[in-house]
Amino acid sequence: MNHRLDGADAPYWQGLEQGHLLLPRCAHCARWLWPAGHRCASCGGIGMVWEERPLRATLYSWTRTWHRFGFTENLDLPYVSIVVELDDCSVRLMGRMDDPTPDNPRIGEALVGRIGETVVGEDRIPTVIWSRAA
Ligand SMILES: [Zn+2]
Repeated sequence: MNHRLDGADAPYWQGLEQGHLLLPRCAHCARWLWPAGHRCASCGGIGMVWEERPLRATLYSWTRTWHRFGFTENLDLPYVSIVVELDDCSVRLMGRMDDPTPDNPRIGEALVGRIGETVVGEDRIPTVIWSRAA
């Protein structure tokens, strides 16, 4: 069963598969709702609209993984997992970063994203892959 097809965040995954970053916004009070849910935590409204956002962000947190664990055989080691804060809506998203080894990523640095995928076992997961803004 693929939860990416029928969860509250299904439009996010479908957007990534089509090359777009889509995020939900409350149809009543316009607050960004992430993680996606079925009701606005701020105004209680039901109903949301999905808007495309640009792939520009700042680095919020990161970690570099040096050792392999199950189902990550398709990832080159080491790899960098990150949390970014999108520039124009302050939503935080998880993703991967092109590894800037030997320089460590720096919290707050500007990033640009592209949509790729992460292969975990047999599953090909659409993923935003971030790199330093030129
Ligand atoms: Zn609302």
